[in-house]
Amino acid sequence: GGTIGMVGGGQLGRMFAMAASRMGYRVIVFCESIDEPAPQVAHGCVTGKLDDKKAVDQFASQCDVITLEFENIPAETIAECQRFAPTYPSADVLATAQDRLLEKTTLQKSGLPVAPFAEVTDLDSLETASAKVGFPLILKTVRSGYDGKGQHRIGSIDDAKQVDWASCSQWVAEKLIPFDREVSVIVARTRDGRTSTFPVFENDHVNHILDVTMVPASIGDDLTRRANQIAIGAAVALDVVGLLCVEMFVCGESDGSESDGSGEVLINEVAPRPHNSGHLTIEGCHTSQFEQHVRAVCGLPLGDTSLVSNAAAMANLLGDLWPADGSSPPWNRVYDVPGVSLHLYGKQQAKRGRKMGHLTCVSQDRDTAVVQVKQAREQCKSG
Ligand code: ATP
Ligand code: MG
Ligand code: MG
Repeated sequence: GGTIGMVGGGQLGRMFAMAASRMGYRVIVFCESIDEPAPQVAHGCVTGKLDDKKAVDQFASQCDVITLEFENIPAETIAECQRFAPTYPSADVLATAQDRLLEKTTLQKSGLPVAPFAEVTDLDSLETASAKVGFPLILKTVRSGYDGKGQHRIGSIDDAKQVDWASCSQWVAEKLIPFDREVSVIVARTRDGRTSTFPVFENDHVNHILDVTMVPASIGDDLTRRANQIAIGAAVALDVVGLLCVEMFVCGESDGSESDGSGEVLINEVAPRPHNSGHLTIEGCHTSQFEQHVRAVCGLPLGDTSLVSNAAAMANLLGDLWPADGSSPPWNRVYDVPGVSLHLYGKQQAKRGRKMGHLTCVSQDRDTAVVQVKQAREQCKSG
């Protein structure tokens, strides 16, 4: 038992609280509003601005251990939490994960493969950076982007002239990687340095937002080993305690499916927390990413991450699925598709591109799992 503090009130905090609660812990959430997804399922909630020291103290003083569900929390807030209780991941990990440049530099210095990148502050430095990484490139804000927000695909200097350079002072230019597929590995790491990885997930993005995750990833044994090594290497390099999700590009495979040893893995970015690509672990693995997160930060033995069946798939439910009249999609139709589980996050307002829930299917066969979640989602389109 004991009380776990969760900074952040979104769906990741919500699913963490559900897992922790089942394991006998109390969860207190610290977020801005009681209407967010996590407080609805937690034992307690302290609301306030995340940089309000009084609110932070009120929250942290009730906790035995503190963790978080998103990386854009003021570093001072985490430092303040650390005065009251062990806080994982630490303020140092957070500072790195909040800053794409620092993150890439730190990973690169540890010998881990990242896509070629360069710092950019304005149109002139973009020109210099393009000499290093080449066109086309992807321009990203150094701080606070998610779901592809603040990103531009730049094919030429003319494109770069269209960027609102005044909107942000620090950017990073990345080589556009012609990847064959995107994968992610979630690694759990304990206070005493034990690690455990989940199976490699294969991720399809639509409009820079995760759409579908599938497991097993269709990459060969060599690339699988490589992806796992990179993920563990990143968790050690950053000294993460808790979860780290490492998003990677796989390129240069000789053919679409089974590898003959060719191919390369590059890190796109990391997130020191549960991750959307790990949602299928709730039904798909013996231990979910959320339970593993609890185990890691509470100093328990790590759980078995293997799949309960051969395959699983997850499809996100975005706000786009909601009818304009404010009603809900016809969820009952989901239950017509055998083996599909529905998760809704309890968000009050559906907006375009907003993650409102997800569907999971566990199956003997990966293609079946993918077809089932997509079919179930299709049936939830009203009309
Ligand atoms: P989130 O944190 O929600 O995953 P984000 O805003 O931090 O999103 P990224 O993960 O950096 O964004 O990029 C989103 C997606 O855009 C990637 O998953 C990938 O599909 C594409 N993308 C990003 N960078 C590159 C790149 N250098 N080359 C090719 N595709 C890219
Ligand atoms: Mg990101
Ligand atoms: Mg990403």
